[in-house]
Amino acid sequence: MMQTLTVGLSDRSYPIHIGTGLLSNAALLAASIPRKRVAIVTNTTIAPLYLSQLQATLREIGVQSVEIILPDGEVYKTGETLNLIYDGLLTHRCERTTPLIALGGGVIGDMTGFAAASFLRGVPFIQIPTTLLSQVDSSVGGKTGINHPLGKNMIGAFYQPKLVLADISTLNTLSDKELSAGLAEVIKYGLIRDLPFLEWLERNIEKLLARDTEALQYAVMRSCQNKAEVVAADERESGERALLNLGHTFGHAIESGMGYGNWLHGEGVAAGTMMAADLSQRMGWISTDDVLRIRDLFLRANLPVVSPDLGIDRYLDYMGLDKKVEGGKLRFVLLKQVGVAALVSDVPLALLQQTLVACCS
Ligand code: NAD
Ligand code: MG
Repeated sequence: MMQTLTVGLSDRSYPIHIGTGLLSNAALLAASIPRKRVAIVTNTTIAPLYLSQLQATLREIGVQSVEIILPDGEVYKTGETLNLIYDGLLTHRCERTTPLIALGGGVIGDMTGFAAASFLRGVPFIQIPTTLLSQVDSSVGGKTGINHPLGKNMIGAFYQPKLVLADISTLNTLSDKELSAGLAEVIKYGLIRDLPFLEWLERNIEKLLARDTEALQYAVMRSCQNKAEVVAADERESGERALLNLGHTFGHAIESGMGYGNWLHGEGVAAGTMMAADLSQRMGWISTDDVLRIRDLFLRANLPVVSPDLGIDRYLDYMGLDKKVEGGKLRFVLLKQVGVAALVSDVPLALLQQTLVACCS
């Protein structure tokens, strides 16, 4: 069974369809592709798995596709690779009405989205996310972009897709490690704003790891619902949207400190969330039992709960470089309660230092 959510952004509202076998669902694509041509952007890992299936579905509705197949990896989320997309689009004479379809994880989605935002000053964009992380997070909300040698996601645009197809069936080929990394963001929604969902996750985490289709579909749907609500309320991150960064300031420090790619983003988020939980407890908001409860769920999801010992100074340094810093003050998303996050801008340095000592080894 398929479920549909709408991201409510007035004239830029769009549907997210979640279900199995969506890559073969001609009617869904037909509704969003009025013209006879699309450009599919994907990578060398995903193309052999899913490209021919998507092409066949498009052929069924009389749509021809050109393919742009990129190298796989976060290291290729660059201006150079973006140029490969423009090269392909220009070589194939794509027009302002030619939709770009991103078939892949968050790297493909972010780059293709930015290409769609900028090519000919904007062409229609369709997301077909194929990792759990991209289905629950990056494909929803319209942040697109590439990395710069001086910082991750530093060049980009807010650009909303016309349609998101989250095909749960594609998750069957994802590695266990990538699946767990996606679960970190899923757990995050429960922690910041949806206690009943967190409780559901505590009852169903093993089912998700076993890739039970119904459980996965429910988790993706509920996650997208949470993200869509936040984005609808605060598209450009002037307030509530920042709460989605729970664990991310610490997590980015871990990712940078360990060298990008050595820790998956979701792994950094899990360990970073444990640091945020520890700090929340030191601020007097959540209990030590709450911290252990969160730790237990991450452990069951096969995620790291202890951070690498980069040393206090390097953590502070990496967190100071984080783009979420405002006016020289370190802002943290912390937990007021389990299920309720808040943005805090006056954390005593001494407590932060205690957290950095307590959570690392
Ligand atoms: P990814 O796109 O690198 O995908 C992870 C790996 O899985 C890749 O090797 C990919 O080729 C492979 N893969 C993808 N789908 C597969 C499938 N169905 N079967 C087998 N292998 C598959 O990583 P990701 O975790 O999806 O996304 C991370 C990126 O998303 C980062 O660049 C991050 O900055 C970005 N992101 C963006 C937002 C946003 O709001 N735009 C939010 C979160 C993350
Ligand atoms: Mg994230």
